[in-house]
Amino acid sequence: NSRADCPPDVEMLGRSSWTLLHTIAATYPDTPSRTQQSDMLRFVDLFSKLYPCWVCAEDFQSYIAQKVPKVSSRDEFGQWLCGAHNDVNRKLGKKEFDCSKWLERWKTGPPDGRVQSLKAPVDVA
Ligand code: FAD
Repeated sequence: NSRADCPPDVEMLGRSSWTLLHTIAATYPDTPSRTQQSDMLRFVDLFSKLYPCWVCAEDFQSYIAQKVPKVSSRDEFGQWLCGAHNDVNRKLGKKEFDCSKWLERWKTGPPDGRVQSLKAPVDVA
């Protein structure tokens, strides 16, 4: 912990939050029950209302209203979330992430173990 993390700024909050969200997607069932699907919809909805960067939260709520979260399987939800994250990446002028690699980035890791190669597109200016 460095002083720079305390309190978290919008960037630190964002990185930590995306880590939580994508990791939740990576551990979401392949075939979720009705209850798991409705829990996920409620979670995303409440997250978008409680996210403590109000400008970010407003935009995220509009995104959800236009593109309703897809929660019928792990891959569907992971792809949806990747699209939502890319929407923010575009807004901030960051490179878009290749959504075919979301599970590799957040669960399995790349076949050759070069995790860095997946981080590079958005971490390196
Ligand atoms: P991050 O964007 O935090 O990404 C972290 C890691 O995720 C990357 O290193 C990469 O490996 C991976 N990644 C990148 N894109 C994707 C993707 N599409 N799918 C899967 N994995 C990916 N900041 C603002 O300034 N204004 C906003 O309006 C704003 N809105 C936000 C809304 C939400 C819901 C969240 C969670 C964050 C928001 N942020 C916003 C924060 C912003 O998205 C970044 O988190 C922050 O700028 C730090 O960026 P970063 O370059 O470290 O990487």
